[in-house]
Amino acid sequence: MAQKKVLLIEDEVKLARFVELELRYEGYEVTVCHNGRDGMTLINEGNFDMILLDLMLPGLTGIEICRRVRKTSNVPIIMLTAKDEVIDKVAGLDSGADDYLTKPFAIEELLARMRVAFKHCEDKLTKKVLLQVQDLEIDTEKRLVTVGGTTVELTKKEYELLLYLVQNKNIVLTREQILNEVWGYSYIGETNVVDVYVRYLRAKIDETFQKKFIHTIRGVGYYVKEE
Ligand code: CA
Repeated sequence: MAQKKVLLIEDEVKLARFVELELRYEGYEVTVCHNGRDGMTLINEGNFDMILLDLMLPGLTGIEICRRVRKTSNVPIIMLTAKDEVIDKVAGLDSGADDYLTKPFAIEELLARMRVAFKHCEDKLTKKVLLQVQDLEIDTEKRLVTVGGTTVELTKKEYELLLYLVQNKNIVLTREQILNEVWGYSYIGETNVVDVYVRYLRAKIDETFQKKFIHTIRGVGYYVKEE
């Protein structure tokens, strides 16, 4: 298999150097930069398989970079955040990051998260199908959601949540299952993220089209119902 290309954007030079060496040792091809704007330039010029992105960066913040990348690409992005940075995790994930890692982290933890993110990415590529529930359709190749032929604009996480619910239609999924599957790791004690995103989806689908796709089982979780 070809070497995977990883872009690391991190302004803490020592940490960046450490991560770079460890990733090289693991067989990744690593490009490093210490500034948000340079990072964006590299992204536009290069073809990376993954981006490791510090949140607070000179030039452009990690969230801004993430938003820009997501307009054109589904490359896996793992955000690196400092412990004392108070951030809105929901907003952060909504910018399109696949995962979060709080500094300081063990390198093994980063490597494990990277493997998960790569696997998710590959799974998505191999599952090219058209899914349907009532008159809602998901074209997973185009990442296109339509209801009765009308396109529904969804953010990355909204799309992934809907896809997971539809792939498991008529099965009640717990918040924990949804967190693990859609957010790719255990987000312990923060299952309210799921509720927030279900609300977003309901606003865009159930309310807009006056249907009831997403059902709640109080205290348990959610499911999409095939009438
Ligand atoms: Ca930083």
